Amino acid sequence: MSMIEFHDVNKYFGKFHALKNINLTVDRGEVVTIIGPSGSGKSTLLRCINGLERITSGQLIVNDFDLADKKTDMNRIRKNVGMVFQHFNLYANKNVLQNVTLGPDLVLKRNKQEVEQEAHDLLKMVGLENKADSFPGELSGGQQQRVAIARSLAMKPKAILFDEPTSALDPEMIGDVLDVMQKIAEQGMTMVVVTHEMGFARHVGNRIVFMDDGQILVDSANVDQFFDD
Ligand code: ADP
Ligand code: ADP
Repeated sequence: MSMIEFHDVNKYFGKFHALKNINLTVDRGEVVTIIGPSGSGKSTLLRCINGLERITSGQLIVNDFDLADKKTDMNRIRKNVGMVFQHFNLYANKNVLQNVTLGPDLVLKRNKQEVEQEAHDLLKMVGLENKADSFPGELSGGQQQRVAIARSLAMKPKAILFDEPTSALDPEMIGDVLDVMQKIAEQGMTMVVVTHEMGFARHVGNRIVFMDDGQILVDSANVDQFFDD
């Protein structure tokens, strides 16, 4: 059963053709890694999936809903499809716990104590249970990104999109973030990950998609074909 389906999707920014006839299916529970040069359309592809960008033509189905259909609730799509960004995008004036609970409190309007308990569990899962009262500015980049991942999971999404989640991090921080992502993958989360981390692509991802110039040039479950050894 598929979570995401692109059928002949095109995306233009004015006259610029950013996505060219994209066909791509991501099954539930699948981890797809997207690689390709800067400017090839990877980020645009992710942003179309949760409605941050609108497609120009073709069809895009997410969680069985057609994103072009006016009856589709885009807030529901964003709730069901989390996004983790390169630069974390945490609220600087809220502590770690508040960053994780804010979405469920406000968007889902759920019971505050229950949400807090779940947030503590998530912080434990990402290895930051002792940082609940810290503010983002007091954390390393790697820690902030793990908070961002916990915040995304707090919404109980059906899929999570990762846009170069480790590209802004010092090398020694990257492993901890990738370990958390691997844990989430092993729990069966559907994930689309734009990354340069080929170890993750090879050992955690089920498929590699290679983009260039707005097109998908390779879409392969034969992950090892990308490696020489
Ligand atoms: P990647 O993630 O592979 O680096 P992007 O999806 O960010 O590539 O960008 C693909 C192309 O689309 C780039 O040439 C970029 O400049 C262009 N682009 C992206 N967003 C916009 C926008 N909002 N307006 C105009 N051009 C854009
Ligand atoms: P929940 O949002 O409660 O976690 P689901 O999203 O799976 O659970 O769906 C709950 C109900 O909302 C279902 O009837 C489903 O068909 C409908 N629904 C889910 N997503 C959307 C959407 N993007 N637009 C409109 N209705 C939706």
